Amino acid sequence: MPTYTAPTRDTRFIVNELLDLASYGNLPGFENATPDMIDTVINEAGKFCAEVLAPVNQAGDEHGCTRHEDGSVTTPPGFKEAYQAYVESGWGTLAQPEEFGGQGLPHVLGFVLEEYSGTANQAFAMYPGLTAGAISAIIAKGSDEQKAAFLPKMISGEWSGTMNLTEPHCGTDLGMIRTKAVPNGDGSYAITGTKIFISAGEHDLTSNIIHLVLAKTPGAPDSTKGISLFIVPKFVLDENGEPAQRNGVTCGSIEKKMGIHGNATCLLNYDGATGYMVGEENKGLAAMFIMMNAARLGVGIQGYAQAEVAYQNAVTYALDRRQGRALTGPAEPEAKADPIFVHPDVRRMLMDAKVFTESMRALCLWGALQVDLTHKAQTAEEREQADLLIGLMTPVIKGYGTDKGYDIANNMQQVYGGHGYVREWGMEQFVRDSRIAMIYEGANGVQAMDLCGRKLAANGGKAIQAFFAMIDEEIAAAKQVAELKPVAERLEKALGEQKAATMWFMQNAMANPNHLGAGAHHYMHIMGVVTLGFFWLRMAKVALTKLADEPEDKAFYEAKLVSANYYAERFLPDAGALRRKLEAGSEYMMKLPAEAFATAA
Ligand SMILES: Cc1cc2nc3c(=O)[nH]c(=O)nc-3n(C[C@H](O)[C@H](O)[C@H](O)COP(=O)(O)OP(=O)(O)OC[C@H]3O[C@@H](n4cnc5c(N)ncnc54)[C@H](O)[C@@H]3O)c2cc1C
Repeated sequence: MPTYTAPTRDTRFIVNELLDLASYGNLPGFENATPDMIDTVINEAGKFCAEVLAPVNQAGDEHGCTRHEDGSVTTPPGFKEAYQAYVESGWGTLAQPEEFGGQGLPHVLGFVLEEYSGTANQAFAMYPGLTAGAISAIIAKGSDEQKAAFLPKMISGEWSGTMNLTEPHCGTDLGMIRTKAVPNGDGSYAITGTKIFISAGEHDLTSNIIHLVLAKTPGAPDSTKGISLFIVPKFVLDENGEPAQRNGVTCGSIEKKMGIHGNATCLLNYDGATGYMVGEENKGLAAMFIMMNAARLGVGIQGYAQAEVAYQNAVTYALDRRQGRALTGPAEPEAKADPIFVHPDVRRMLMDAKVFTESMRALCLWGALQVDLTHKAQTAEEREQADLLIGLMTPVIKGYGTDKGYDIANNMQQVYGGHGYVREWGMEQFVRDSRIAMIYEGANGVQAMDLCGRKLAANGGKAIQAFFAMIDEEIAAAKQVAELKPVAERLEKALGEQKAATMWFMQNAMANPNHLGAGAHHYMHIMGVVTLGFFWLRMAKVALTKLADEPEDKAFYEAKLVSANYYAERFLPDAGALRRKLEAGSEYMMKLPAEAFATAA
């Protein structure tokens, strides 16, 4: 059975030493985040996820969810007890506003929990994860009445939330949705239509489920400009705010799918269900995007989370499994063979995983800090800067993070040889579970287009210029330090490739938009490679300072320096090849007619 240990030392390094979270104590919501509190949350979250959530992960995969004749759904064995423990410990309240029963702690700590829970048990973590997304949409766009009625019980975890966008004929192109919302005359609406692939759409963990549903009112424009957002509770609330009458929303089926078996992916039928509009009519997509942006960062975390747990197990296996001899001569001559850990090709896979997961962790926790600063920083300038950066980085965290996370999980399965392919060792579950993150919350091709088609050019390129300036500044300082210079120079070269690719888009994409579409994936990957390089440079700088102070865990900081150099040598050069692919444009990609793709017998 695979194991999981929460990487609390690395998290503390990032939160305390890299981001210096305690130094933001003057900001609202940060005053409670004292160094002691931060460490307690990190350690306790790690313990809870490793001891309560991880042990039911494999059972969740084996048993999956069961839909019964009456449309009810039972979650896998152990999930109900684990959820109860999650609610009783108040984990869902961590980063939620105090006025609705939350603890008001920084999002950074909320993201720590998201990582640990998503790593320990992704299928389980999606139940509270979707609730958190629904909460953010209601906080941003709900009326005071809606906030009072729904938020406290969603935040406590007594009720859960879902997000209903997808319909059988449309996923990416939401302008085509057909679900109707007809006014009932009393302020509520009758919602009718079919939603598919709804995560956590029906289950037995909570006493009510609050669905957030996109639908069109009569006469609304037949495009994304005609979409409104509705709250549709599974049980309509009575005058005391308690779940009462069963609403007209039922689970028609649950999907049999590749991974995340413990999470119920439902087809939901809405048959005149009572719904309440959230925000303004026809402005639903913008409201839903608030939820999606939060969820996209969460999915980015899922990308490296599965890579992390797969990596932890692969390291154990590589140290234990003996095959062949080290190329430089037997490492353990007394044994019949050396551990496979000695083989450079196995090391390559393990080092790739180590440097990817550690830098993605730094990027995501930094991203969470930007989310906090967007709302809470003291000056308008700082708030704008944080907003620009997190808006730009969201598709990279989601798209690059999950593409690469899947590759890494796959490589960790490879470390096990044939034993990785059989179910017993649990490695193939990590690969299957991680695959979905590339698809939902906007497939990664759509993330790439969001980055290149919208975010790069927005506000005259202000965000990407801020990104370049931030990295340029770090490089200039690091080049003055002998130990950091090699990493800084390689990063400078990779950043140069990104700048050139950006320029190429500016000069060529207007004339032929297919050039943009053809290069978007490559650009997103260049930016991912450069961004993680930036975090390695910053982590190396902190590690160097700590080493000068002669810390107790010298080995930890020395490993950071080695890893930064490995990343610089092995990942950053990819930016050059990706740029060349991007500059190939779209000619040969788009040249062949559809008939040429048909297979001739
Ligand atoms: C397990 C699971 C859980 C899910 N959970 C939820 C949920 O909770 N709520 C919910 O509403 N939905 C959910 N979904 C749906 C998911 O978000 C969609 O499947 C996803 O957004 C893609 O939509 P689609 O499947 O219709 O693919 P399509 O939109 O048909 O896309 C197919 C392919 O074409 C590409 N493509 C489409 N349009 C473009 C474009 N303009 N530019 C470039 N490429 C494009 C896509 O990138 C993709 O590769 C879930 C799906 C699964 C499988």
